[in-house]
Amino acid sequence: MKKTADSILPPRPAVVELSAYDPQHFETRINLSANENSFGLPPALRRRLEELVEEMAFSRYPDPTVGELRQVIAERHGVDPERVVVGNGGDELIQALLLAYGGPERTAVAFTPTFSMYEILAKVTGTRFVGLDRDRAFDIPADAARRVNEAGGRIVFACSPNNPTGNVVDAGTIRSLCKEVDGLVMIDEAYQEFSSSTALDLPQYRNLAVLRTFSKAFSLAGLRVGYLIADPEIIRNINKVRLPYNVNVFSQAAAAALMSEPGELEEIIAEITVERGRLAEAISDLGGYNVYPSGANFLLVECAESGDAVWRKLLDEGILVRNFSGVPRLENCLRITVGTGLQNNAVIDALKRIGGTWLE
Ligand code: PMP
Repeated sequence: MKKTADSILPPRPAVVELSAYDPQHFETRINLSANENSFGLPPALRRRLEELVEEMAFSRYPDPTVGELRQVIAERHGVDPERVVVGNGGDELIQALLLAYGGPERTAVAFTPTFSMYEILAKVTGTRFVGLDRDRAFDIPADAARRVNEAGGRIVFACSPNNPTGNVVDAGTIRSLCKEVDGLVMIDEAYQEFSSSTALDLPQYRNLAVLRTFSKAFSLAGLRVGYLIADPEIIRNINKVRLPYNVNVFSQAAAAALMSEPGELEEIIAEITVERGRLAEAISDLGGYNVYPSGANFLLVECAESGDAVWRKLLDEGILVRNFSGVPRLENCLRITVGTGLQNNAVIDALKRIGGTWLE
């Protein structure tokens, strides 16, 4: 075909059909939309990171093996560093797993409603995607492994606690997925630090990969650090598709420093889980809102009336939360990140006012 003056090459067919991830970001007074840690870093840890900058060689490439940070992560979890790979955020490792194990002949499965990046990144990597329904309580059904096999699934994503529903996957379900599915099982534990169970306590199934991030409990969303713990063979294959130097000098050092001395952060995590209970109870007590149980740092709240209207009114009050009203099975649902005590009070007060006005 002849080139015309203003023609531009179309992208791959899979990309034509995609839309870019929309984080629904708006500038507001209180941002409780992205499940970040609203407490930020305690001053002493912040100073520690500032000291690191002083001694850092920014003109040099970072350690391509992310050696020191992998060692710290391995020690925290009592695993061999060979079982750890670090990514530029957890998202990058979801993509890397799909690049290494997905592709045109493979099917990835997730249990919907769930984190939308599994589907987006499956499509980006040319992998077929199948969403299997969660049950009425948003749990993964007991016969999940059979359904995955029927769908031809070779890569399974199970998010625990699940974003955006907040519930934890039970150990029995993970065991049966690992034992019965002829493929890989990624348990996405981005929010694990706010709950108690972890797939890392299960036997080391060779097809089990556990994803963690520094973006939530560890308060480093801006530095983009996530990690995957899995069989060394899986890690080796991910290393083949991972970009060299994917984690920058500062992020490697900062994450290692934080994980080596997590004491103060652990106090904040405990405070967030207490605040989660208080916020859930206060919103439920208002009437007109159904709050789902959560093991994460956010609550899924179903509004008796239009979720879109409540979302808009919260924004008018300077509070940004995540609107899931348009997502199948999450009609009229909002996801509210648990913030500081003051931020949570602002949410409760605003919902109280909105509850009295939404029928007008
Ligand atoms: N998994 C889940 C379930 C998430 O909610 C997120 C962040 N929104 C991620 C993975 C990725 O987090 P990050 O890339 O910031 O590490």
